[in-house]
Amino acid sequence: MTDDVIITADATADTLADLYRDLHAHPELSYAELRTARIVTESLAALGFEVHSGLGGTGVAGVLRRGDGPTVLVRADMDALPVTEAAGLPYASTARATDPDGNEVGVMHACGHDVHVTCLLGAAQELASDEGWSGTLIMLGQPAEELGSGANAMVADGLYEKVGTPDVVLGQHVGPLPAGLLALHPGAAYATSDSLKITLYGRGGHGSRPEACIDPVVMAAAVVLRLQTVVSREVAGGETAVVTVGTLHAGTKVNIIPDTAELQVNVRTYDDRVRTRVLDAIARIVKAEAAASGAPREPTVEHPDHFPLLFNDPDGCARTIPALASVVGGPRRVIDPGPVTGSEDVGELAKAAGAPCVYWILGGADPTPFGGATTPEEMLAVMGTIPSNHSPGYAPVIEPTLSIGVAALVAAAKEWLG
Ligand code: ZN
Ligand code: ZN
Repeated sequence: MTDDVIITADATADTLADLYRDLHAHPELSYAELRTARIVTESLAALGFEVHSGLGGTGVAGVLRRGDGPTVLVRADMDALPVTEAAGLPYASTARATDPDGNEVGVMHACGHDVHVTCLLGAAQELASDEGWSGTLIMLGQPAEELGSGANAMVADGLYEKVGTPDVVLGQHVGPLPAGLLALHPGAAYATSDSLKITLYGRGGHGSRPEACIDPVVMAAAVVLRLQTVVSREVAGGETAVVTVGTLHAGTKVNIIPDTAELQVNVRTYDDRVRTRVLDAIARIVKAEAAASGAPREPTVEHPDHFPLLFNDPDGCARTIPALASVVGGPRRVIDPGPVTGSEDVGELAKAAGAPCVYWILGGADPTPFGGATTPEEMLAVMGTIPSNHSPGYAPVIEPTLSIGVAALVAAAKEWLG
């Protein structure tokens, strides 16, 4: 394709904005980030990086070696989501694709990973032309963050044997904070996420003869209600967890009692003990409700995906915050948002390297509706009123988001390089 925007040493802020709009208009689902990976590969190669592509599927890692000094890894995720865009932007995506279940879906950069890729390449350009550091810089384009498996796929594919083991892993995620603000929470920053697929078995038949059937719809209703007691009655007041029944499917026609009901449940936790307790409680309740209904067989509980906890290294955060603050005009503009219930797999890159992880939130929202909000609580209240990540209306403002995103990655990387 000849219309690809490639970042070279001559790229300007306008080139980066063009790249952003181009990536936004061409989103790709997890592990299908072929075009995006090619742009990352060609840009890093043009900037003088040694490039390894096809890592863990579509992952790309560029290495720039400048003698002795620490090894710093900067990560951007590349995948988009099965969401049909409705933000009304002139550069909106009209892309469609077939998802892993065989359904045709709209595709959109609804999580802002196009911002991450653009900022990664902008930072690669600045750091490549900056003589003021020594050591090894790894710029990483990761596949499949949305599945929670892309980081581990790259590690398992020999990432660190090829590029060296980093001393720190840095990265950022755009979010609905006002542009011009950064947010960083030391410690357990993003939750562990577990998704469960539960199938309840009844005995179907005519809707007029419930006495001859075992109704999985009623069984599922009882399960949904009883699951609400897990957090309220089994998790301690000082601990936290989220249990959400995201889907509930049963039946085809009003006068048929179906054979089965299927639920998908998502669990978010910050602590392994709480996680075990919640998962055990769900399994117990599902089994007991099925028994209470007289189910002909025990329910099945599958565990199709798991996102690990993202732990931000407290010392690493303390070291990085002044560098981030210098980009946004002072420490008051780097807020602590507390733990986020969203999930992220960037921490796996750090865990596999035995290195600290420092991962912050990049404000990307139009600052106008935030008006006079200054405290995190006031900002969170406004954030609840505007489209956020994973929404079909999510639309970060291009500037100052990109400039600040690039500057934050450069400042943080230089803080850790020699
Ligand atoms: Zn996401
Ligand atoms: Zn994301």
